[in-house]
Amino acid sequence: MNNSPITTSIFDLFKIGPGPSSSHTIGPMKAAFDFLQRLGQLPETSLQQAADIHVHLYGSLSATGKGHGTDRAVVAGLLGWKPDTTDPVALLALLKDPAQTYPVRVGEREFGVGPEHIHFERKRYDSPYANTMVMRLAGSGPDGGPLTLLEEEYYSVGGGFILRKGEEQAGSSGALPYPYGTMKELKTQLDDHHLTLEQLMLANEMALTGRTRKQVFQDIDRILDFMHKAVRRGLRHRGILPGSIRLHRKAPVLYKQACGLAHSSDRFLIFLNAYCLAASEENAAGGIVVTAPTSGASGVIPGLTYLARHHFHYDRAVLRSGMMAAAAVGFLVKHNASISGAEMGCMGEIGTASAMGAAFLTHCAGKSIDAIEAAAEIGIEHHLGMTCDPIGGYVQIPCIERNAMGAVKAYNAFLLATSGLPSHQKISLDAVIKVMKATGRDMSTKYKETSEAGLALSATEC
Ligand code: SF4
Repeated sequence: MNNSPITTSIFDLFKIGPGPSSSHTIGPMKAAFDFLQRLGQLPETSLQQAADIHVHLYGSLSATGKGHGTDRAVVAGLLGWKPDTTDPVALLALLKDPAQTYPVRVGEREFGVGPEHIHFERKRYDSPYANTMVMRLAGSGPDGGPLTLLEEEYYSVGGGFILRKGEEQAGSSGALPYPYGTMKELKTQLDDHHLTLEQLMLANEMALTGRTRKQVFQDIDRILDFMHKAVRRGLRHRGILPGSIRLHRKAPVLYKQACGLAHSSDRFLIFLNAYCLAASEENAAGGIVVTAPTSGASGVIPGLTYLARHHFHYDRAVLRSGMMAAAAVGFLVKHNASISGAEMGCMGEIGTASAMGAAFLTHCAGKSIDAIEAAAEIGIEHHLGMTCDPIGGYVQIPCIERNAMGAVKAYNAFLLATSGLPSHQKISLDAVIKVMKATGRDMSTKYKETSEAGLALSATEC
């Protein structure tokens, strides 16, 4: 396990941004934005020698980047757009015309960036992460020879988190009142200081980000609002999703069906399916969603929280506190394994979301930290080995239905964990996360967001 304490903020795990993929859309957009800022710090003499900006995409960014809109995200970042304020319609319009270039302004200089400047590289790149981007400002020297004026290497490590070569993981720092890196350490902190999980998470978040208690609560409410807006939009929007699969949206159909089933025992499940599909279909359409922990898995927690709000009538305070339990589980997986489909397959995305959802439900029901741990463990255990093989590189099949399945498993994990004594649970959350990491390491690259095997090959006629 990772020996350092967790220093991720709740608001880095739950990020607002455009779909369809946190690692292939939000991460590259953030990296390109960062590169733009660094270009702005170059001396004027360097900018005068510069001719072009080139972006090279490797690993699964290259294999499925087209379907995930990575090229559009890179252009958007170079234009100075940020994920949480991007207009999804404007983003989808980028690069529609392959002949068009977009003006990237750096000081007095302007560089045209278009499809010819973004390179999907099929060859392997020697880097420690599956999703690597190399961004370069190129020019020519006094002798007319090629010159690299600035080059940066970025890694998109899942959930929209990025690293720059040579830097520790970007994230918050500062003295944590209650540091932990594993579930065992988290439980020790709770015991030693007689804290509830919410109290611990709140204190750490305030120390990490400088937010007040009120601001943390307001910002969690804002995250929930964005999640539920995505659900409501998805319940309304009909038609065919973008891309060559021509997949029909299904959420409005399910919702209508559930509303008409007043006395059927299936009703509850159909509502849950509708909510999860609604948010996932919005993600697939490039709409604004919340990473939870990724964009591909951005239907599980919104579906469950929408259900909790509108069917169980939990109030805001309960939902907020459940979100903190979900975040704790997401942090532990990210810290000790990975939430990236390119590193772990789908168990890293939907598996983690399902475990977070199970923790959310268990916490909302007022159960103990042992029950929360057991629910999260069950959530991960039954996603172990799940591959990532999206058809055509689109976050649609199997992704959309898989969100609904992840939410249903989360609900069942909650039921299983809260029947019987949690202390009778044989596998700890820390142990199953360790297994997840080992399984991800052993999994063939073909099944890690490259669309080179599995379902991606079985339905080429799409
Ligand atoms: S299969 Fe799972 S991990 Fe892969 S893109 Fe779809 S949701 Fe993400």
